[in-house]
Amino acid sequence: MSKVLTVVNAKLFGVAADVSQLLKGQDVILTRTFAKKSDPVDEIAKKLKDADVIIAGSQPIFNRELFSRLPKLKGIVRWGVGYDNIDLKDATEAGVIVSRLPSYALKDAVAEHTLAIMLSIMRKVPQSFQRLKNGEWPSSGNLEYFLGDTLMDKIVGFIGLGEIGFRVLELIKPFKPKEIIVYDPYIPREFIRLSGALVASTIEEVLAQSDVITIHAPLTKETKKLLNIERFKIMKRGVYLINTARGEIIDTDALIWALKEGIVKGAALDVFDPEPVPPNHPIFQFENVIVTPHIAYGVDRSCQLMDRLAIEEALRILRGEKPLWILNPEVLDKGRIKS
Ligand code: NAD
Repeated sequence: MSKVLTVVNAKLFGVAADVSQLLKGQDVILTRTFAKKSDPVDEIAKKLKDADVIIAGSQPIFNRELFSRLPKLKGIVRWGVGYDNIDLKDATEAGVIVSRLPSYALKDAVAEHTLAIMLSIMRKVPQSFQRLKNGEWPSSGNLEYFLGDTLMDKIVGFIGLGEIGFRVLELIKPFKPKEIIVYDPYIPREFIRLSGALVASTIEEVLAQSDVITIHAPLTKETKKLLNIERFKIMKRGVYLINTARGEIIDTDALIWALKEGIVKGAALDVFDPEPVPPNHPIFQFENVIVTPHIAYGVDRSCQLMDRLAIEEALRILRGEKPLWILNPEVLDKGRIKS
């Protein structure tokens, strides 16, 4: 009997690659669905119930409740690298394999997008364009508004220096920042020093010293709402905040407070809490905030590679082979893969 491979969310899946070609000769039926994390679990389960393997975006949430309603499911391949929407422990208990894509598929794309929105907000590109369309031109009375900032001579703080963070660090060096300071308690200090940056022992050090803060840590219990009101209070007045990691790392209400207080001079966010961002969200009242719809990875080259790697990984699971990027290898002994 044909196996069912279901793509859920993964919004740019199949845009850049010819997916039918990738599945040619395989006895696999490809289905596609969308489910928000706020949808009732029964509704999500109904959409996914036929799947042998799922290729998933950063939503919905996969946990015990959902796994118990999907007895056929053998594995999930995250179409991306962050897997915070999948409870690994629950998956392992349910016997479901979890895999994700390797960072090399998308790190350049995400790093370049980080740089793009960082420079855009610092040079007021979207705001200037909007004002121009509204008939404004720099003249006496509004000149100050159009003045931007350079990365040169700024202190740039990193929260997280993994694959993407490190690539961003490499990209910003030619802009001659005054200093780069990194908080990442899970990598050797020597690695941070060798990459030409200063080591911060605490997150507070980065927040207090940086003119620009860029977030590249995963969403975990520890990083959820890491930037709360107390931490915004520590930041320099006039700081720029860039986030291409996960929206939930920033407490949205606290960010709005910090924008109103003038602590944050500009924010550029590819990720947001919640996603999708409702069009009437209060964040849109701030001219000095830009939000992109979680598309930092979204370039042709990355998406093509991600599609191919995700399908190959899904086929490995369907054939009962060991997946290359498995996150819970202990599941292989007891997994549904055997049945
Ligand atoms: P990675 O695992 O290579 O790096 C993450 C780094 O964060 C690691 O060095 C880790 O030690 C560090 N870290 C963990 N907890 C930390 C903490 N509490 N404080 C500071 N640092 C901490 O991952 P990556 O490939 O660089 O990706 C980073 C994140 O970017 C992903 O987890 C994902 O959420 C996000 N992402 C977003 C997009 C997008 O399109 N916007 C695409 C891919 C990934």
